[in-house]
Amino acid sequence: MKMIYKPQEYRIKDERMKPFIDESEIWEILEEAQPTKENVRRIIQKSLDKNRLSLQETAVLLKVEDEELIEEIKAGAKELKEKIYGDRIVIFAPLYIGNKCVNNCTYCGFRASNTKQKRTTLDHEQIEAEVKALEDSGQKRLILVYGEHPMYDADFIADSVKTVYGVKSGNGEIRRVNINAAPLDIEGFKKVKESAIGTYQIFQESYHREAYAKYHLSGKKKDFEWRLTGLDRAQEALIDDVGIGALFGLYDWKYEVLGLIRHVNHFEACYNVGPHTISFPRIQAASDSNIDPEFEVSDKDFIRLVAILRLAVPYTGMILTARETKEIREEVIKLGVSQIDAGTNIQLGGYSEDNGKQQKLEQEQFEIGDPRSLGEVIDELLDKKYLPSFCTACYRKGRTGEHFMEFSVPGFIKRFCSQNAILTLAEYLEDYATLEMKKKGYDLIDVKINELKDFQKTEDLLKRLEMVKQGERDLYY
Ligand code: SAM
Ligand code: SF4
Repeated sequence: MKMIYKPQEYRIKDERMKPFIDESEIWEILEEAQPTKENVRRIIQKSLDKNRLSLQETAVLLKVEDEELIEEIKAGAKELKEKIYGDRIVIFAPLYIGNKCVNNCTYCGFRASNTKQKRTTLDHEQIEAEVKALEDSGQKRLILVYGEHPMYDADFIADSVKTVYGVKSGNGEIRRVNINAAPLDIEGFKKVKESAIGTYQIFQESYHREAYAKYHLSGKKKDFEWRLTGLDRAQEALIDDVGIGALFGLYDWKYEVLGLIRHVNHFEACYNVGPHTISFPRIQAASDSNIDPEFEVSDKDFIRLVAILRLAVPYTGMILTARETKEIREEVIKLGVSQIDAGTNIQLGGYSEDNGKQQKLEQEQFEIGDPRSLGEVIDELLDKKYLPSFCTACYRKGRTGEHFMEFSVPGFIKRFCSQNAILTLAEYLEDYATLEMKKKGYDLIDVKINELKDFQKTEDLLKRLEMVKQGERDLYY
């Protein structure tokens, strides 16, 4: 039976803002999918030919249980990543600004009812100290994270963004600030946009209303539709760079993948552009947390779901965080991830406090699986011949929808992304790397420039690379 929605004035201004998730429709699509060999292979090929998959086609991939076919799905995702995106991995770090929260999300260490959590909101000086520590390690891109609390309103978020951009330490600076915070109203999103943010991320957590209600016990976040329409209000406020996500472990993972795809379809239909990024966090242990293991996603299924997401939405950025272990990250990066965090410390004030790698869960949201430093992650990426990138060029040049361009404009990656990755990696090597890593990094840069030579002139890139070596910074295409 279809659900009847009653649009409420304050959030639904027109047709576009109507709720678009229909549980029974998603389940029907899953039930009807026929994962025959022929069907699965045709769908993988459709994605390799750079086409978006429909909900029905994605459901076919989700229904596959045959091991051989699962391997073909993974191989398809790997081929797509290599073919379209190449070997760049964009690096960022999360910076937690405040852990006060009025909501009660049962899985989260910040939830209001958790009396063990020590509540902290970084003031101006503390944010500066954190950003200085991040810049001194080589970071250029941050995502600011906030609990949901009246104190963390749009003005507060915008102020913290401005504080971050204002910190310059040595050659260091933050060139892109993304946000992961509660949904705002349209006026609020407008204010935050003015502070020059990159992406605004809101994870729906679960696209299933009943499951959602089970985990979100009180506070504003209890309201499923308010959250679901959050990024529509962001679009109304002209924030077109938005990130969606589902928290895997709350409900059936196949259902949630289709929920994400349904959300993508909604953006494409209403705004002519899909989300900038998709995130797929898995629930981790948290202080005093209470998780129902019924829907736990195994490592094997997690790897599968990442591959299917990659094939279903080939043009969208995919974010993998340090919630996952080094081993899982290595495996999943191959299947289509474009951004990872590195040098992650999610303790409030943790970057400047230098607490080693020991987590203090009473001051953190959840346990992380990959506590390696930025240097350690970069070193490993270089060993595996990935090109770590701190590029922020598209957003600063006004080229929004860059993932789409990477995907659809022939030569875009070679002309912009690869060259910018090389220049930002060279900055990192000059300013923050050990001598040994510097040698390894420049060896890889030489290889990448040689590869580029087959496609385009590299004189200008070589000139700029020399300029970086001489001390110039922030050169980009
Ligand atoms: N408080 C805001 C909100 O809920 O949208 C901002 C983001 S919250 C601090 C960041 C995200 O962390 C949540 O959207 C949720 O998906 C994820 N999260 C919360 N608890 C988690 C846990 N125990 N393990 C993994 N991810 C978790
Ligand atoms: Fe608060 Fe966000 Fe944690 Fe929910 S997930 S308790 S809203 S910080």
